[in-house]
Amino acid sequence: MRKKQFKAESKKLLDMMIHSIYTNREIFIRELISNASDAIDKLYFKSLTDDSVGLSKSDFEINVAVDKSARTITISDNGIGMTSEELEANLGTIAKSGSLNFKQENAQAGENDIEVIGQFGVGFYSSFMVASKVEAVSKAYGADTAYKWTSEGADGYTIEECEKDAAGTVITLYIKEDTENEDYSQYLEQYRLSELIKKYSDYIRYPIKMAMTHSVPDAEKEGEYKEEVSIDTLNSMVPLWRKNKSEIGEEEYNGFYKNKFMDFENPLAVIHSKTEGQATFDALIYIPSKPPYDFYSKEYEKGLQLYTNGVLIMDRCADLLPDYFSFVKGIVDSADLSLNISRETLQQNYQVKIIAKAIDKKIKNELKKMLSNDRANYEKFFETFGVQLKFGIYSNYGAEKDSLKDFLLYKSSKENKYVTLKEYVSAMAEGQDTIYYACGESAEKIALLPQLEAVKAKGYDVLCFTDDVDEFAIQMLMEYDGKKFANICKDELNLGTDEEKKALDEKNTASKDMLEEMKTYLEDEVSAVKFTNSIGSHAVCLSAEGYVSLEMAKVLSQMPGGNQGMKAQLVLEINSEHKVSEKLFALFAGDKDKLKKYTKILYNQARLISGLQIDNPTEFADMVTDLM
Ligand code: ADP
Repeated sequence: MRKKQFKAESKKLLDMMIHSIYTNREIFIRELISNASDAIDKLYFKSLTDDSVGLSKSDFEINVAVDKSARTITISDNGIGMTSEELEANLGTIAKSGSLNFKQENAQAGENDIEVIGQFGVGFYSSFMVASKVEAVSKAYGADTAYKWTSEGADGYTIEECEKDAAGTVITLYIKEDTENEDYSQYLEQYRLSELIKKYSDYIRYPIKMAMTHSVPDAEKEGEYKEEVSIDTLNSMVPLWRKNKSEIGEEEYNGFYKNKFMDFENPLAVIHSKTEGQATFDALIYIPSKPPYDFYSKEYEKGLQLYTNGVLIMDRCADLLPDYFSFVKGIVDSADLSLNISRETLQQNYQVKIIAKAIDKKIKNELKKMLSNDRANYEKFFETFGVQLKFGIYSNYGAEKDSLKDFLLYKSSKENKYVTLKEYVSAMAEGQDTIYYACGESAEKIALLPQLEAVKAKGYDVLCFTDDVDEFAIQMLMEYDGKKFANICKDELNLGTDEEKKALDEKNTASKDMLEEMKTYLEDEVSAVKFTNSIGSHAVCLSAEGYVSLEMAKVLSQMPGGNQGMKAQLVLEINSEHKVSEKLFALFAGDKDKLKKYTKILYNQARLISGLQIDNPTEFADMVTDLM
């Protein structure tokens, strides 16, 4: 029998695929089972209108068999089958349909090939990734003769008549011998193969059956086991997300989640939706109650499982989720995507972009709902994942700040509970036009800040910023509802009356010489020493001038490479009403050495209050003890 050659472009494609494109060899089984399922679909639809088919839905099935010693895997279906012409046309050519015209410019080797291949129905050929020889025995529905197509890869194929009773197709793969780098024998192991079938083809609508050997307790010999072979159905067939919402209970949603995404806890929220329009897809999305176990590791990859018509295309499709929702888990199933879409093609895929946008919106809507209807649950969510949203505001030059700002929660220093920015603004005191915040390790620590007193005295609430990213995010936000933000430890607050302000300015001007001198005692540590009237009864505090606040400087100094060029400009502020200021004037007139000592003590005290380290704690302790 004369061997026929594959068409030139098919041959090239075949070579490319076997050698490079699909490093993910295991998908061959998915491809063959999908083909079998499609072939059954065709005959099943025919049977709906044509009684002579003589098969009902429950008669259709896909059978998988493994023969370890012969090194073969056989996939059989009782679908529509193929005539010899169809065998020739379908399996002899890859570029069969007009849309798959293999354009000359694309044929130039290189990255383009991958994209081109992504659009092809190259499914069947993937069997050559694991098989040295492939046979397809097929009998078309209604035909008298069956044919066998055989190929050992790129050098061509033969077609000959053969025997087969019923319509359908039997594909036999002769699995390659193992090599140093590749373990092909794994596919001949029943557990490995059944696991792959479950992974990729769990939701194929016809049963996929396979003979499985189980070890069962031996009824005759107590305590011993014997091997038993049973024909098992490997797939569960109906994807949960394809069912109607009304048919699914909470239990089932949660069980599916825990099983599929390996979590012990129930999710915080479930979003199940069917979308039609620009893109048609089903989505089943979960917001976990705890971060995924590997969430904080470098290896963590965000993404949703992507299916097309119930067949898995990708385990973690990162393009479906924005970074600020990277903790979200779930599934998207869209008939609009092709099975062989590659990672590279997906990124530019228009459908995927539309789906991603729709999903982003769905998650936001769900959170909005939770925030207004189930506050306790939302706070739980925010304590776990709020930081991600804050990073979301800060990243991409604030592209998402407006869509995320209403999800933020901060502890209120007035009421020790969480408030949204909206709630803060609507509860603002009369005459208040600024949103005040303070940074610190915790709301408790912030409550002790000297700067808080004057703000509190005015009846203003202060938001507690306890995450490193808080201030960066707020700088990106700039304002909320037309109200600017002010850091009570850094920004000019202008809380006093005009007269008070004037008096303070005068005092600062009059004391210029002393304050300058005190600054020189502290060398490069501070950019200024000033009197203040906004720290209540406390003696000193530290504040910052310019763009970088104290907290930001702390955060920046922890980043790799340190905080070069991003140092906060510290200002030592002394309470003008405090008795210590009189003492300072006295020392300035009489005892400069002591003034120097006092200045250093005050400065170190202010550092301590702000949660900063003291450069020389021993010297500080000695100076204080001297005074005692
Ligand atoms: P695709 O399935 O993406 O079209 P394949 O290379 O997997 O590409 O298959 C090519 C064609 O061969 C299919 O479109 C189908 O017409 C035919 N085919 C493959 N497997 C079977 C099968 N088991 N039964 C009937 N036809 C099949």
